[in-house]
Amino acid sequence: MTQTAKPMGPIPQGFAALDGELAIAGVRAREWVKRAGGAPLFVYDAGLVAARIDAFRTAFPGVGLHYAVKANPFGPLLAFMAGRVDGFDIASGGELAALRAADVSGTRIGFAGPGKRSADIAAAIAAGITLHIESSHEADRVLDAGARAGVAPRLAIRINPDFQLAGAGMRMGGGAAPFGVDSEQVPALVRRLVAAGAEWRGFHVYAGSQALDAGAIVASQLATLELVARLAEAAGVTVPVCNLGGGFGIPYFPGQQPLDLAAVGNGLGEGLSQRAAVLAETRFVLELGRWLVGEAGVYLAEVVDRKHSRGETFLVVDGGLHHQLAASGNFGSVIRRNYPCAIATRFDAAADDIAHVVGCLCTPLDRLGDALALPHAEPGDLVALFCAGAYGASASPAAFLGHGPAREVLAGLG
Ligand SMILES: *Cc1c(COP(=O)(O)O)cnc(C)c1O
Repeated sequence: MTQTAKPMGPIPQGFAALDGELAIAGVRAREWVKRAGGAPLFVYDAGLVAARIDAFRTAFPGVGLHYAVKANPFGPLLAFMAGRVDGFDIASGGELAALRAADVSGTRIGFAGPGKRSADIAAAIAAGITLHIESSHEADRVLDAGARAGVAPRLAIRINPDFQLAGAGMRMGGGAAPFGVDSEQVPALVRRLVAAGAEWRGFHVYAGSQALDAGAIVASQLATLELVARLAEAAGVTVPVCNLGGGFGIPYFPGQQPLDLAAVGNGLGEGLSQRAAVLAETRFVLELGRWLVGEAGVYLAEVVDRKHSRGETFLVVDGGLHHQLAASGNFGSVIRRNYPCAIATRFDAAADDIAHVVGCLCTPLDRLGDALALPHAEPGDLVALFCAGAYGASASPAAFLGHGPAREVLAGLG
């Protein structure tokens, strides 16, 4: 063996061995694959999602919780969320359809995102959804659509702030951006919406994603409170709802620590207690995706081949980047690092092997684990990739190379 093992990220809490096998929601991995009809398979543990929601409620009393559907739009998961979160944020007509299928009422939905299509705008207005305006031209289109439908559209403005969320894995605000209305243009646009007879719903600031630094998140929230107060005063309006964004991250890689939720809750709570008078009656919400569902998901794929090439071992699985693009390092990461990974069928065995875990796609990009220290695995074993609950199945090129989509299941419903 000429390889040296490379580190992997931490396996999330909530997963234990049962009869030597990885158990998800108390059921062995092989049993999940059998029940689902085969691998590759995403299993989402609803109990772990519920625990996250509970933790949020404890840390953020009085703050609303929205689920960002983009993170994972799996139907049963949306239905599970519907009874537990206060609202949903969508970014497409397809996500709206997924929520309608899960019986979520339009009045609990906010629709942000650039390039909204006319048909989606019309459907959103008809359903009573709050549209988050991303540009001046979009404001015209939405007001026209409301006039055609004979209803006052419910409108908020997504602000492109003049600051960034420091340390975010992906930044979506500050500088020039396709997202949101530049803050300096906001007061005039608010006045225009109100004058046109729209139902004014408030502001939305989303500065970035995958942030693990509590201090940076709080700083961005406090800056948001100041910004929306200043803009509301300038526009001469109050703010019924203020969506403060989110961006709460999870540890994927070696050395990353979980977000200190209490620190964010305390920091925001203090900021809210000192907020400007114009925000006295405002309802504040956070919109979270990844943090709620990411660590609750496991991607299971079966080892099809164990191959040796010039001193290195390859475990070739029946899944790949077409289901779990992010784990291959090709979804917004600069350097490829290893997601947490295990041999699910030998979960409590000692790591006595070093192997690359590769997918079945005919491209060198399809590497899910690089030089991992794992128990010796053979064809028929199951590989588990953790942190697969967000930006997995729906954020991967499932059509690439024709292997087809993965199966998905929501586990732990009792
Ligand atoms: C992507 C996105 C989210 C969700 O981000 P997470 O990192 O998954 O929490 C929330 N709001 C908006 C506007 C987004 O674009």
